[in-house]
Amino acid sequence: MGHNDRYDSEDRDKEEYLGSLLERLDSKAQGITKLVIDKGEDALSPKQKYVFQREVVDQYIITECKLCKDSVAWCEMAFTIESGGYCPHCDHLMNKDD
Ligand SMILES: [Zn+2]
Repeated sequence: MGHNDRYDSEDRDKEEYLGSLLERLDSKAQGITKLVIDKGEDALSPKQKYVFQREVVDQYIITECKLCKDSVAWCEMAFTIESGGYCPHCDHLMNKDD
């Protein structure tokens, strides 16, 4: 079960998103995130996984929208983080003037 067995667009979007986070991370989390981009989360030691979870996953990764509970695509995640946990669809509905 290797990281490259299924290299589809979702993986590319994930790598792109993680790459966009690098500048916000401290050097330790940065190194770990680069490793994830390079080799996948399976390559991390338990300690690195803990740091990745705490510094990256908990801060910057949202898997489902707070409101509609739909899964959030990697390409929409930056938006969802900025909007406080809402997918573009729900954010649009909440901000509609009517
Ligand atoms: Zn939603």
